[in-house]
Amino acid sequence: MTLHERPLVGAIEAGGTKFVCAVGRGPGEGILARTRFDTGDDPVRLMREVGAWLSDRQNEHGPIAALGVASFGPVDLDEASATYGRVTTTPKPGWQGADILGPLKAAFPGIPAGFDTDVNGAALGEATWGAARGLADFVYVTAGTGIGGGGMAGGRLLHGLVHPEMGHMGLPRIEGDDFAGTCPYHGRCWEGLCSGPAIAKRAGMPAESLPPDHPAWDFTIHSMAHAFFNLACVLSPRRIILGGSVRKAGQLGEAAFFDKLRAAFRNTAAGYIASPALDDDGIREFIVPPSLGDDAGVCGAIALAHAAWEVRVSGNDPA
Ligand code: ZN
Repeated sequence: MTLHERPLVGAIEAGGTKFVCAVGRGPGEGILARTRFDTGDDPVRLMREVGAWLSDRQNEHGPIAALGVASFGPVDLDEASATYGRVTTTPKPGWQGADILGPLKAAFPGIPAGFDTDVNGAALGEATWGAARGLADFVYVTAGTGIGGGGMAGGRLLHGLVHPEMGHMGLPRIEGDDFAGTCPYHGRCWEGLCSGPAIAKRAGMPAESLPPDHPAWDFTIHSMAHAFFNLACVLSPRRIILGGSVRKAGQLGEAAFFDKLRAAFRNTAAGYIASPALDDDGIREFIVPPSLGDDAGVCGAIALAHAAWEVRVSGNDPA
Protein backbone atom coordinates (compact mmCIF):
# COMPACT_ATOMS: atom_id res chain seq x y z
CA MET A 1 0.00 0.00 0.00
CA THR A 2 1.29 3.47 -0.83
CA LEU A 3 0.72 6.25 1.66
CA HIS A 4 -2.04 7.57 -0.62
CA GLU A 5 -3.91 4.25 -0.59
CA ARG A 6 -3.81 3.95 3.18
CA PRO A 7 -6.97 5.15 4.92
CA LEU A 8 -7.04 8.02 7.37
CA VAL A 9 -6.77 6.64 10.91
CA GLY A 10 -6.60 7.80 14.49
CA ALA A 11 -3.43 6.89 16.38
CA ILE A 12 -2.51 7.00 20.04
CA GLU A 13 0.98 6.44 21.38
CA ALA A 14 0.06 5.85 25.01
CA GLY A 15 3.20 6.48 27.05
CA GLY A 16 3.84 6.54 30.77
CA THR A 17 4.50 10.31 30.76
CA LYS A 18 2.58 11.51 27.70
CA PHE A 19 -0.04 10.39 25.21
CA VAL A 20 0.75 11.44 21.64
CA CYS A 21 -2.36 11.44 19.46
CA ALA A 22 -2.42 11.82 15.70
CA VAL A 23 -4.66 11.59 12.69
CA GLY A 24 -2.96 10.48 9.51
CA ARG A 25 -1.89 7.83 7.02
CA GLY A 26 1.81 7.39 7.77
CA PRO A 27 5.06 9.16 8.71
CA GLY A 28 6.14 12.68 7.77
CA GLU A 29 3.54 14.48 5.69
CA GLY A 30 1.22 11.54 6.29
CA ILE A 31 0.49 12.94 9.75
CA LEU A 32 -2.23 15.58 9.31
CA ALA A 33 -2.69 16.56 12.95
CA ARG A 34 -1.13 15.68 16.24
CA THR A 35 -1.22 16.69 19.87
CA ARG A 36 -0.03 15.47 23.25
CA PHE A 37 -1.60 15.06 26.65
CA ASP A 38 0.15 14.48 29.98
CA THR A 39 -0.58 10.92 31.09
CA GLY A 40 -1.40 12.12 34.61
CA ASP A 41 -3.22 9.96 37.15
CA ASP A 42 -6.82 10.10 35.87
CA PRO A 43 -7.16 7.70 32.92
CA VAL A 44 -10.95 8.14 32.68
CA ARG A 45 -10.65 11.88 32.13
CA LEU A 46 -7.64 11.47 29.82
CA MET A 47 -9.41 8.97 27.54
CA ARG A 48 -12.42 11.31 27.37
CA GLU A 49 -10.11 14.13 26.24
CA VAL A 50 -8.36 11.89 23.70
CA GLY A 51 -11.70 10.77 22.24
CA ALA A 52 -12.92 14.38 22.00
CA TRP A 53 -9.73 15.48 20.23
CA LEU A 54 -9.98 12.66 17.68
CA SER A 55 -13.64 13.42 17.13
CA ASP A 56 -12.86 17.10 16.45
CA ARG A 57 -10.19 16.09 13.91
CA GLN A 58 -12.79 14.04 12.03
CA ASN A 59 -14.76 17.25 11.53
CA GLU A 60 -11.65 18.83 10.03
CA HIS A 61 -10.10 16.01 8.00
CA GLY A 62 -12.94 13.58 7.37
CA PRO A 63 -13.88 10.24 8.92
CA ILE A 64 -11.21 7.93 10.30
CA ALA A 65 -11.35 4.29 9.17
CA ALA A 66 -9.65 2.69 12.15
CA LEU A 67 -7.94 3.35 15.48
CA GLY A 68 -4.53 2.19 16.63
CA VAL A 69 -3.21 2.25 20.18
CA ALA A 70 0.41 1.48 21.06
CA SER A 71 0.46 1.44 24.84
CA PHE A 72 2.85 1.38 27.77
CA GLY A 73 2.34 -1.71 29.84
CA PRO A 74 1.93 -4.23 31.02
CA VAL A 75 -1.33 -4.49 29.10
CA ASP A 76 -3.88 -7.24 28.45
CA LEU A 77 -3.63 -8.22 24.76
CA ASP A 78 -5.89 -11.28 24.94
CA GLU A 79 -8.99 -10.40 22.91
CA ALA A 80 -10.94 -13.14 24.69
CA SER A 81 -10.20 -11.65 28.10
CA ALA A 82 -12.65 -9.46 30.03
CA THR A 83 -9.83 -6.99 30.65
CA TYR A 84 -8.59 -6.81 27.01
CA GLY A 85 -7.29 -3.32 26.23
CA ARG A 86 -6.50 -2.47 29.84
CA VAL A 87 -3.28 -1.76 31.68
CA THR A 88 -2.61 -4.52 34.23
CA THR A 89 0.02 -4.38 37.00
CA THR A 90 1.67 -0.98 36.64
CA PRO A 91 2.96 0.75 39.78
CA LYS A 92 1.86 4.02 38.12
CA PRO A 93 -0.66 5.85 40.37
CA GLY A 94 -4.22 5.71 39.04
CA TRP A 95 -3.39 3.34 36.18
CA GLN A 96 -3.79 -0.15 37.67
CA GLY A 97 -6.48 -1.82 35.59
CA ALA A 98 -7.08 1.38 33.61
CA ASP A 99 -9.19 0.89 30.48
CA ILE A 100 -7.54 2.46 27.43
CA LEU A 101 -9.28 0.74 24.54
CA GLY A 102 -12.84 0.52 25.94
CA PRO A 103 -13.60 4.27 26.03
CA LEU A 104 -12.24 4.66 22.49
CA LYS A 105 -14.34 1.81 21.11
CA ALA A 106 -17.37 3.35 22.82
CA ALA A 107 -16.59 6.78 21.32
CA PHE A 108 -16.07 5.35 17.81
CA PRO A 109 -18.50 2.45 17.52
CA GLY A 110 -18.07 0.10 14.58
CA ILE A 111 -14.54 1.22 13.75
CA PRO A 112 -11.84 -1.48 13.93
CA ALA A 113 -9.17 -0.86 16.54
CA GLY A 114 -5.67 -2.29 16.84
CA PHE A 115 -4.12 -2.52 20.29
CA ASP A 116 -0.60 -3.61 21.19
CA THR A 117 2.39 -2.68 23.30
CA ASP A 118 4.19 0.56 22.52
CA VAL A 119 7.25 -1.40 21.42
CA ASN A 120 5.36 -3.82 19.18
CA GLY A 121 3.64 -0.78 17.67
CA ALA A 122 6.95 0.95 17.06
CA ALA A 123 8.32 -2.32 15.64
CA LEU A 124 5.43 -2.52 13.16
CA GLY A 125 6.00 1.13 12.21
CA GLU A 126 9.69 0.46 11.55
CA ALA A 127 8.78 -2.70 9.59
CA THR A 128 6.33 -0.73 7.45
CA TRP A 129 8.29 2.46 6.81
CA GLY A 130 11.61 2.40 8.65
CA ALA A 131 14.70 0.49 9.74
CA ALA A 132 13.08 -2.96 9.65
CA ARG A 133 11.59 -2.84 6.14
CA GLY A 134 11.93 -6.24 4.51
CA LEU A 135 12.94 -7.97 7.76
CA ALA A 136 10.80 -10.78 9.16
CA ASP A 137 12.95 -11.23 12.28
CA PHE A 138 14.06 -8.24 14.30
CA VAL A 139 13.82 -6.67 17.74
CA TYR A 140 12.77 -3.13 18.63
CA VAL A 141 13.90 -1.88 22.06
CA THR A 142 13.02 1.39 23.69
CA ALA A 143 15.12 2.67 26.59
CA GLY A 144 13.82 5.79 28.29
CA THR A 145 11.81 6.09 31.51
CA GLY A 146 11.64 2.30 31.35
CA ILE A 147 12.94 -0.38 28.98
CA GLY A 148 10.73 -2.50 26.77
CA GLY A 149 11.20 -4.69 23.73
CA GLY A 150 9.03 -6.03 20.94
CA GLY A 151 9.57 -7.08 17.38
CA MET A 152 8.84 -9.81 14.90
CA ALA A 153 9.67 -13.48 14.46
CA GLY A 154 8.77 -15.00 11.12
CA GLY A 155 6.99 -11.78 10.12
CA ARG A 156 4.58 -11.83 13.10
CA LEU A 157 4.67 -9.45 16.04
CA LEU A 158 5.92 -11.17 19.20
CA HIS A 159 3.03 -12.21 21.43
CA GLY A 160 2.45 -15.19 23.66
CA LEU A 161 1.28 -15.84 27.16
CA VAL A 162 1.17 -12.05 27.59
CA HIS A 163 3.78 -10.05 25.72
CA PRO A 164 7.58 -9.95 25.91
CA GLU A 165 9.04 -8.19 28.96
CA MET A 166 12.57 -7.90 27.65
CA GLY A 167 13.34 -4.92 29.89
CA HIS A 168 13.14 -7.12 32.97
CA MET A 169 15.67 -9.77 31.95
CA GLY A 170 18.38 -10.40 34.51
CA LEU A 171 21.94 -9.43 33.62
CA PRO A 172 25.32 -10.54 34.96
CA ARG A 173 27.10 -8.20 37.34
CA ILE A 174 29.95 -6.34 35.69
CA GLU A 175 33.17 -6.30 37.68
CA GLY A 176 33.34 -3.18 39.84
CA ASP A 177 29.64 -2.41 39.48
CA ASP A 178 27.90 -2.46 42.88
CA PHE A 179 24.84 -0.39 41.85
CA ALA A 180 21.70 -1.93 43.37
CA GLY A 181 19.44 -1.01 40.42
CA THR A 182 16.09 0.78 40.44
CA CYS A 183 13.47 -1.80 39.42
CA PRO A 184 10.92 -2.12 42.28
CA TYR A 185 10.41 -5.78 41.30
CA HIS A 186 13.93 -7.03 40.46
CA GLY A 187 16.48 -4.38 41.40
CA ARG A 188 19.25 -5.05 38.90
CA CYS A 189 17.26 -6.13 35.84
CA TRP A 190 17.96 -4.44 32.46
CA GLU A 191 15.49 -1.63 33.18
CA GLY A 192 16.82 -1.34 36.73
CA LEU A 193 20.34 -0.83 35.38
CA CYS A 194 19.96 1.06 32.08
CA SER A 195 16.76 3.14 32.05
CA GLY A 196 17.03 6.93 32.24
CA PRO A 197 16.07 7.02 35.94
CA ALA A 198 18.58 4.21 36.65
CA ILE A 199 21.41 6.14 34.99
CA ALA A 200 20.43 9.27 36.92
CA LYS A 201 20.31 7.42 40.24
CA ARG A 202 23.62 5.66 39.61
CA ALA A 203 25.39 8.89 38.68
CA GLY A 204 23.58 11.23 41.05
CA MET A 205 22.63 13.51 38.15
CA PRO A 206 20.40 13.32 35.06
CA ALA A 207 21.84 11.44 32.06
CA GLU A 208 21.74 14.67 30.00
CA SER A 209 24.23 16.27 32.42
CA LEU A 210 26.69 13.36 32.58
CA PRO A 211 30.15 14.14 31.19
CA PRO A 212 31.07 11.81 28.28
CA ASP A 213 33.83 10.13 30.33
CA HIS A 214 31.63 9.48 33.40
CA PRO A 215 31.94 5.80 34.46
CA ALA A 216 28.13 5.51 34.57
CA TRP A 217 28.14 5.48 30.75
CA ASP A 218 30.54 2.51 30.66
CA PHE A 219 28.52 0.47 33.14
CA THR A 220 25.27 1.34 31.34
CA ILE A 221 26.62 0.51 27.89
CA HIS A 222 28.18 -2.78 29.04
CA SER A 223 24.93 -3.89 30.65
CA MET A 224 23.01 -2.81 27.53
CA ALA A 225 25.42 -4.84 25.37
CA HIS A 226 24.86 -7.93 27.55
CA ALA A 227 21.11 -7.52 27.13
CA PHE A 228 21.48 -7.18 23.34
CA PHE A 229 23.66 -10.29 23.24
CA ASN A 230 21.04 -12.21 25.23
CA LEU A 231 18.41 -11.10 22.69
CA ALA A 232 20.66 -12.17 19.82
CA CYS A 233 21.12 -15.60 21.44
CA VAL A 234 17.43 -16.16 22.20
CA LEU A 235 15.64 -14.66 19.18
CA SER A 236 18.32 -14.57 16.49
CA PRO A 237 17.11 -11.20 15.17
CA ARG A 238 18.50 -9.86 11.89
CA ARG A 239 18.62 -6.37 13.39
CA ILE A 240 18.14 -4.70 16.78
CA ILE A 241 16.67 -1.19 16.71
CA LEU A 242 17.20 0.96 19.80
CA GLY A 243 14.77 3.85 20.30
CA GLY A 244 13.92 5.98 23.32
CA SER A 245 15.73 8.83 25.01
CA VAL A 246 18.70 6.97 26.57
CA ARG A 247 20.31 6.43 23.16
CA LYS A 248 20.65 10.20 22.70
CA ALA A 249 23.17 10.01 25.57
CA GLY A 250 23.35 13.70 26.49
CA GLN A 251 26.87 15.06 26.21
CA LEU A 252 28.25 11.72 25.03
CA GLY A 253 26.06 11.95 21.95
CA GLU A 254 24.07 9.38 19.98
CA ALA A 255 26.81 8.46 17.47
CA ALA A 256 29.38 7.80 20.21
CA PHE A 257 26.81 5.88 22.27
CA PHE A 258 26.05 3.54 19.36
CA ASP A 259 29.75 3.07 18.53
CA LYS A 260 30.47 2.09 22.15
CA LEU A 261 27.40 -0.15 22.30
CA ARG A 262 28.38 -1.98 19.09
CA ALA A 263 31.96 -2.47 20.35
CA ALA A 264 30.72 -3.71 23.75
CA PHE A 265 28.29 -6.09 22.01
CA ARG A 266 31.13 -7.61 19.94
CA ASN A 267 33.24 -7.89 23.07
CA THR A 268 30.41 -9.64 24.94
CA ALA A 269 29.63 -11.94 22.00
CA ALA A 270 33.34 -12.92 21.91
CA GLY A 271 33.02 -14.08 18.31
CA TYR A 272 30.56 -16.81 19.21
CA ILE A 273 27.68 -16.01 16.83
CA ALA A 274 29.12 -16.60 13.38
CA SER A 275 27.60 -14.13 10.94
CA PRO A 276 29.00 -11.36 8.77
CA ALA A 277 26.18 -9.23 10.22
CA LEU A 278 28.16 -9.10 13.45
CA ASP A 279 31.62 -8.33 12.03
CA ASP A 280 33.27 -4.91 12.17
CA ASP A 281 31.20 -3.47 9.29
CA GLY A 282 28.06 -5.56 9.67
CA ILE A 283 27.50 -4.50 13.27
CA ARG A 284 26.79 -0.95 12.08
CA GLU A 285 23.66 -2.26 10.35
CA PHE A 286 22.83 -4.74 13.10
CA ILE A 287 22.45 -2.29 16.01
CA VAL A 288 20.76 0.86 14.75
CA PRO A 289 18.56 3.77 15.85
CA PRO A 290 14.96 3.90 14.55
CA SER A 291 14.59 5.42 11.05
CA LEU A 292 11.38 7.08 12.15
CA GLY A 293 13.24 8.72 15.04
CA ASP A 294 10.96 9.97 17.78
CA ASP A 295 7.95 9.38 15.51
CA ALA A 296 8.45 5.59 15.71
CA GLY A 297 5.80 5.32 18.44
CA VAL A 298 3.04 7.35 16.85
CA CYS A 299 3.73 5.86 13.39
CA GLY A 300 3.54 2.47 15.06
CA ALA A 301 0.05 3.32 16.32
CA ILE A 302 -0.91 4.32 12.76
CA ALA A 303 0.46 0.99 11.48
CA LEU A 304 -1.56 -0.89 14.14
CA ALA A 305 -4.70 0.93 12.97
CA HIS A 306 -3.97 -0.01 9.35
CA ALA A 307 -3.42 -3.65 10.36
CA ALA A 308 -6.82 -3.69 12.14
CA TRP A 309 -8.44 -2.04 9.10
CA GLU A 310 -6.91 -4.64 6.74
CA VAL A 311 -8.29 -7.47 8.86
CA ARG A 312 -11.73 -5.83 8.72
CA VAL A 313 -11.79 -5.24 4.95
CA SER A 314 -10.41 -8.70 4.24
CA GLY A 315 -13.46 -10.11 6.03
CA ASN A 316 -11.43 -11.95 8.70
CA ASP A 317 -12.69 -9.82 11.55
CA PRO A 318 -15.54 -11.44 13.48
CA ALA A 319 -16.56 -7.97 14.77
ZN1 ZN B 1 12.65 -5.44 36.57
